[in-house]
Amino acid sequence: MHAITRPGLEQAREILRQRFGYDDFRLQQAEIIQALLDGEDVLALMPTGGGKSLCYQIPALLLPGTAVVVSPLIALMEDQVTALEQLGIRAALLNSSQDSEQKRHSWQRLKNGELDLLYLAPERLLNPAMLDALAGMELALFAIDEAHCVSQWGHDFRPEYQRLNQLHQRFPTVPRIALTATADARTRDEIIQQLALQQARVCISSFDRPNIRYHIHEGSNARERLWQFIEREHPKDAGIIYCLSRKKVEETAHWLNLKGRAALPYHAGLPDQTRQENQQRFIREEGLIMVATIAFGMGIDKPDVRFVAHLNLPRSIEAYYQETGRAGRDGLPANAWMAYGLQDVITLKQMMLAQDSQAGHQRQQQQKLEAMLALCEHDGCRRQRLLQWFGESLEQPCGNCDNCLEPPESIDATEAARLALSTVYRTGQRFGVTHLVQVLLGKADSRIQALGHDRISTFGKGTALDARHWRALFRQLLAAGHLRVDDEGYGTLRLSESCRPLLRGEAGFSLRKPRRERTKAGGKNGGKAGSPPLPEADQPLFEALRQLRAQLAREQGVPPYVIFGDASLRDMCRLRPENERDFLEVYGVGEQKRERYGSAFLEVIRQHRSG
Ligand code: ADP
Ligand code: ZN
Repeated sequence: MHAITRPGLEQAREILRQRFGYDDFRLQQAEIIQALLDGEDVLALMPTGGGKSLCYQIPALLLPGTAVVVSPLIALMEDQVTALEQLGIRAALLNSSQDSEQKRHSWQRLKNGELDLLYLAPERLLNPAMLDALAGMELALFAIDEAHCVSQWGHDFRPEYQRLNQLHQRFPTVPRIALTATADARTRDEIIQQLALQQARVCISSFDRPNIRYHIHEGSNARERLWQFIEREHPKDAGIIYCLSRKKVEETAHWLNLKGRAALPYHAGLPDQTRQENQQRFIREEGLIMVATIAFGMGIDKPDVRFVAHLNLPRSIEAYYQETGRAGRDGLPANAWMAYGLQDVITLKQMMLAQDSQAGHQRQQQQKLEAMLALCEHDGCRRQRLLQWFGESLEQPCGNCDNCLEPPESIDATEAARLALSTVYRTGQRFGVTHLVQVLLGKADSRIQALGHDRISTFGKGTALDARHWRALFRQLLAAGHLRVDDEGYGTLRLSESCRPLLRGEAGFSLRKPRRERTKAGGKNGGKAGSPPLPEADQPLFEALRQLRAQLAREQGVPPYVIFGDASLRDMCRLRPENERDFLEVYGVGEQKRERYGSAFLEVIRQHRSG
C-alpha cells in the first residue's frame, strides 16, 4: 500500500516565505498548521495581532479543495479578501452586500474549483442550498473566525454561530478550526461544547502583547491630559478613544476637530450609513482618530492603530484587554492610555442594574467591575496583573507599563483610612465621595450644616491631605474591598465587613499616591519591548514611502496597509534595497508584492540614496 503524501510543514514554510514574505512562524502557528494538514480539528486561542489568519490560510493553499471561512462581519471579510488578492491568492466572499452579478461571479468561481478561500457569514453558510452545494465539492477545511461569538455571555453573541455545530455532522471528514482572541476559560469551554470540538487539538498562545505600553491614571482633567498625550506621542497616528456614552463620544470628537485633529464619532445611535462611512474612512485613511463607544471595534483589522485611549473605566478586565488589544496589531510599539474616576464605577453600576435583571449575572458583572478597579489601583506591574487574570504568569515585571517605568510612591495612610471609614459610618453610610471629602476637609456649606455633619467628630480632621489624595484613598479602599458602592446606583458608600481590623487598629493601610501624568513613552526607551523609534535620518524616506503607499491605495481603492504595513516600510528604510532580489528580503515582501510594487518602491528608495 502506498502512503498518501500529505503536504507538510516544509511546504507551509515555503509558502510563508514566498507568498507572505515572512521568515518564520510565530507562536503556535506551526503546530496549528501541522494539525490541520494532518486532518485534525483545532481550537486556536491567540492574542489579537498574533497571526490567526495565516493558520488557516496556509493550509487552505496546501490542501486540495476550497477552504470555507466563517466570519461575523462583512467589513472583516472584505478586508481579508482584499489582503489575499494583493498576495495573488484566489479568495472571494459571498454576502448580502453584493449585487447579484458579484454573487454569480463568486459562485461560478467556487463551482469551477477556482477558489482557495471562500468567506461567508454563518447564516449564508447554513443556508440549505449552500450546504448542499458544498457537499458536492472538495473542501480543504472550515475556519470559524471570532469563535467566541457562540458564547451567550459575551458582548459579541451571534445566535447563528451556535448552529455551526451542524458542520461536524454534515462534513465529518473536513477539518475544522475555530479561532478567537478571547482568553477566558469559560468562553473556551463554551466554544468546545457549542461547536462539538471535544476532539480538537487546543492551542493556547501567550496572551501577552509586549509591544503595548499600559498607562492608567486617575481621571481629573482627563480630556486635557489626553490631548497632551496625543500631541506628545501620536501627533500623526491613528488611534481609538473609547467613551462610555454617546454624548461624550460626540463631544470628544467635536473637540478634537476644533483642536485640529481629524476625528470621527462612532456609536449605535448614528445612522447605519454614517457608521459604515466613518469606519471605512478610519480604515482607509491614515492618522484618523475614532471616538467610539464599545459598539466599535470587533472586526477592525487595521494593524497600525498606534494608541487606544479610554476616557472612562471599562466594565471588565476582559473588555479592557480586548479594546486595548486593537492597538499595535503590527507588532510595532503602541500605547494603551486610560483615565478613570470613581464616577465611572457608579455610572457602570447603574448601567448594569438597568440592563440586566438576572441576579446571578449581575453579581458576576459587579465582580468583574471590581477586578477592573483593582487593576487600576494596583501598584505593581500592570502586565503581570493582567496576565495573571487570564491564568498566565509573567516572571519579571514587564518594564513597559506606567508602574514599571515610574514606580508609584506609597505612604502609610492607616490614620487617614480610619478617618475616612469613620466618616462614612458617622454620616450614616448614605453619602458619596464628594460629600465625605467635604466633611473631612471641614467645608461647612449650608447643606453640611443642615445635616449636622459639621458637628461629627471627624469634621475638618482631614486637612493633612488634599481632595485629590482623599479621592484616591476612597478609591483604594473600594478597590481593597473595605468599602462598597451601594446597589441602588446613587454612589453612596457603605462599610463592608473587611474594614473591621482596620477600624480596630489591627491592620494598616498604605496609599498609592495619585500622580500627575509624566511618563514619556516612546521617546525615552524605557521598555524592552517594541522596536526602537525610527532614526531621524530615515524620516524623509519613510514619509516618501508612506506617500507612495497612500497613492497606490487610493488608485486601487484599498486600505494602505494591505499594500505594505508600517513594519515593511521601516524595514525598507533599514535595508535600503537596491534591486528586486534585495527587495525580497524586506519584511512582508513575497513574490507577488515584489512583482507588483518592487519597481515603484525601489525608485523612491533610489531617490533618497545619499551621496
Ligand atoms: P489576528 O487575526 O490574530 O489578530 P492577523 O492574522 O491579522 O492577526 O495577523 C496580524 C499581522 O501579523 C498581520 O499583518 C500578519 O500578516 C502578520 N503575521 C502573521 N504571521 C506572521 C509571521 N509568522 N511573521 C510575521 N508576521 C506575521
Ligand atoms: Zn510592568
